[in-house]
Amino acid sequence: KQAAYASLRDVEPFTRCGTRIQVMLNAGLRDDMSALAMTGADGVGLFRTEFQFLVSATLPQRDRQTRLYRDVLDAAGEKPVIFRTVDIGGDKAVPYLRDEVAEFDENPAMGWRALRLALEREGLLKVQARALLEASAGRQLYVMFPMVSEPWEFDAAKQVFEDQLSYLKTRKKILPESIRYGAMLEVPALAEVLDDLLPRLSFLSIGTNDLTQFLLAADRANPKLAERYDWLSHSILRFLRRIQLATVGYDVDLGVCGEMGGRRLDALALLGIGYRRLSITPAAIGPIKELVRKVDLKEISEAMNTWLADPSLNLRAELESWARERDIDID
Ligand code: PEP
Ligand code: MG
Repeated sequence: KQAAYASLRDVEPFTRCGTRIQVMLNAGLRDDMSALAMTGADGVGLFRTEFQFLVSATLPQRDRQTRLYRDVLDAAGEKPVIFRTVDIGGDKAVPYLRDEVAEFDENPAMGWRALRLALEREGLLKVQARALLEASAGRQLYVMFPMVSEPWEFDAAKQVFEDQLSYLKTRKKILPESIRYGAMLEVPALAEVLDDLLPRLSFLSIGTNDLTQFLLAADRANPKLAERYDWLSHSILRFLRRIQLATVGYDVDLGVCGEMGGRRLDALALLGIGYRRLSITPAAIGPIKELVRKVDLKEISEAMNTWLADPSLNLRAELESWARERDIDID
């Protein structure tokens, strides 16, 4: 099996019907970047910048951040890297902010974390913006903001980057070739105001790990809720289908960067409701490429529409038998 996946490294993931699917990887450390060449992924769809913050006893200084981002871009070469600004706070506690974060956070996942924290500790976001802009000198920079709940948060975070860019201009520094800004959709409320947000975005990435826990009110880390926390439930897939439909007609790249994209049945469901870009864990790249090559999009989309119209159906069972009938490996 491993050899079969390795042989797919240089094979582009086209579906059976000829649609190119973007298969990207999730990373967070400098060392993760070797997976790009090993798997032949299309780029890094989610670089979790908070890893550097989480492993450090003190707030990482700007030059350390710049060095990491530059190394990551060097390792990626021509392939795109989407840097997500820090998602610390909440359950991702860092020693230097712990007291402040812990004070009121009885529900850390929906607490003072990610962009919420970064917009209030603007120094933190400013430093990260400078580091990302300087590391991207002469190259393309992709920036993504986590836990956006309302469009103004996206605007405010983007403004922090634009201010730093203006500063670098006055200093006659080499600037990024261009900058693309995107948001994560992991807070359900954002889905209701996409008409407002989408015209300002260049890409939108669904964080299904958090989105699912918020939609189902089921903690993603609690083993007692593992059965409730179900990516293949009707409500989750209908919700995701609605988001996909809402993006039609906008010039916005849509993708999923939660772990569900790396599971074959779940990826099959995502393809069936219109998703064409998945960012997943490195070990899943081979299996997902293999899956993509066996799927006819028209067939799976018709099947998903039929199944989603009937909430009494067990979607997992339907997807499994659909895949088996077509000799598609899903284990
Ligand atoms: C997500 O929530 O789906 C996501 C990709 O971000 P994280 O897992 O880092 O919260
Ligand atoms: Mg998340």
